[in-house]
Amino acid sequence: PYAAIGVEINVDHVSAVATDLAGERLLTWRRSFTTGDSVNQGVASVGAIIRRVVNRMAKEERQVLGLAVAVPGLVDVQGTVRLAPNLGWHDADIGGDLAKALRDPGFPVQVDNDANLAALAEQRFGAHAGTSDMVYLTGEIGVGAGIILDGRVRRGGLGYSGEIGHVQLDPDGPECHCGRRGCLEAMAGIGAVLRKIPSPAEIQIEIEESVRLARAGDPDTLATLDSVGRSLGRGVSVLANLLNPEVVILGGYYVPLAPWLLPAVHDELSHRVIASEAGGCQVVASTLGHDAAALGGAARVLDSIDSGRLPG
Ligand code: BGC
Ligand code: ZN
Repeated sequence: PYAAIGVEINVDHVSAVATDLAGERLLTWRRSFTTGDSVNQGVASVGAIIRRVVNRMAKEERQVLGLAVAVPGLVDVQGTVRLAPNLGWHDADIGGDLAKALRDPGFPVQVDNDANLAALAEQRFGAHAGTSDMVYLTGEIGVGAGIILDGRVRRGGLGYSGEIGHVQLDPDGPECHCGRRGCLEAMAGIGAVLRKIPSPAEIQIEIEESVRLARAGDPDTLATLDSVGRSLGRGVSVLANLLNPEVVILGGYYVPLAPWLLPAVHDELSHRVIASEAGGCQVVASTLGHDAAALGGAARVLDSIDSGRLPG
């Protein structure tokens, strides 16, 4: 039997998913990651994870058909990471580097933007699977959109579409890791939910703490989530006015926070989306779990395989 592997590199974690040919998960792996990792350190630690997954598959006598890696940044159509603002990486051929780290220069490695691959996973396996026009929004330190129109992921001319996280909402707003000010991600990314940006290892714990405080009705936490939800709603309204998706799916850490973010998002949309009375657009939380982009990576590998050529 065969397996496809998808890997997601994020600011605070690396996830790997292996699936069979039907896209059923065989294995899920998640490990924390350090933002300060240079490309070299990053490739070494991600390479080690991938080797383990490949070995596990070998033990189960599965042949790995390929690997697709989701990166939180701008990936050009050749698969080079041009800029990952929250990792501080630029111009990195991590596909080539990973193939070398796997000690198999011929190993098929594809690289894509995290939001694009998560959108692909949603379109295949999510609660809104099959929807032809939809957008996936990552809820991490970084915010990015994976855009599906007419049933296909749309990358733009060079591969950099969907950078809604760096659309400016407020010229006087907080600084963003891209060096600009008042970007959507600086105002509605996970960093805006947390009082201070914790070390990557603590992000998950801090989000759980915010959920606990919100449940307990803590006024400061509720006010923060309302304000983040409003900024997020402004960002989603841009997507809705521009692209008219049937649904916008919120992923990552937005999922546990959705009960407190969505009311503000919906309120902003009702004021800002020109078509809101004529149907507008739905906004929902993802049901795929935190590793949608890794799952989407496996889906990308499956897509790129001509199943007619597989032996057996
Ligand atoms: C990056 C995007 C990425 C998003 C989510 C943003 O800072 O510019 O490319 O998709 O973060 O990781
Ligand atoms: Zn920015």
